[in-house]
Amino acid sequence: MCQKKSEHIIDYINRKTLKDPKAEYWRLYTKRAVKDKVDKTIFKCKSCNNVWGIVSKYIHIKKYIYYPKEVMPSIGKKEKMCPVCRGLE
Ligand SMILES: [Zn+2]
Repeated sequence: MCQKKSEHIIDYINRKTLKDPKAEYWRLYTKRAVKDKVDKTIFKCKSCNNVWGIVSKYIHIKKYIYYPKEVMPSIGKKEKMCPVCRGLE
């Protein structure tokens, strides 16, 4: 698969999780490229302490995903109750 659109955070996590040789490159690249975007769409739930984010429906049917803590540090993320803790699930 070849995708020339800007790398999505999900792809970034997949790359890192799969220990792709390019993971380090993407880590550095996305660190700068998506930081502003990420800070606006990723939150830390003060109830369950998970880091979660709003995603497009084509990424995940529920429109949100939870990020593994080792991939997405919770430091600096805004606190916002996740959909599960808000009783939306
Ligand atoms: Zn929660």
